[in-house]
Amino acid sequence: MKKALIVLIMLFLALPCFADQHKVLKVVDGDTIDVLYMGAKERIRLLNVDTPESVHPDQSKNTPMGEKASAYTKNRLNNKLVELEFESKLRDRYGRLLAYVIVDGVNYNLELVRNGWSPYHTKYGTSKKYHAHFMSAEKKAKAQGLNIWAVDGSGSTGFHTIAKPPAAKDYSGNVKSLKFHKSGCKYYNCSKCTVTFKNRRAAVHAGYVPCGVCKP
Ligand SMILES: [Zn+2]
Repeated sequence: MKKALIVLIMLFLALPCFADQHKVLKVVDGDTIDVLYMGAKERIRLLNVDTPESVHPDQSKNTPMGEKASAYTKNRLNNKLVELEFESKLRDRYGRLLAYVIVDGVNYNLELVRNGWSPYHTKYGTSKKYHAHFMSAEKKAKAQGLNIWAVDGSGSTGFHTIAKPPAAKDYSGNVKSLKFHKSGCKYYNCSKCTVTFKNRRAAVHAGYVPCGVCKP
């Protein structure tokens, strides 16, 4: 009886060695995962990274690069046991736990940046623990033109939404001049033409004036 108790106490003491490993239940996208944490499913938003979107409710925000980043994280983290490291602010406004994810002894947040799947994201503050690591990881990924830093022929990086060819019925509006164009007009893709309309009526309704060149 006494021996059993000692074994039990020893097991209990050994527990913390394993207790900080958490099972990854689901990879939501490149920078968001669900883990089993303290007996509950928790959504984890990885600190200081921001991979391109792949599951955004607004479909136009999802990009092929987002799909690739998501696939990378799925491949690396699905069904794995991970450790979580926190900084001072534990949750974001969506209730997600903000953390560094350690997999196989590697800081996965840094891995994302090192491989060019994410910039060093400092919108909500710089990293207290790994600032220098993030800086150097981003610098290297940029220098190698990895993934989001890959420069395509047009000189834009993969991080930005890849513009889909507009459907014939789409009209674009210049948010500065409030003129709108139909596809095919040389001004259709002007730098301020950032609004699209499903039809002519919608454009007029929004207060836009037809372009004098393409006469939509
Ligand atoms: Zn026009």
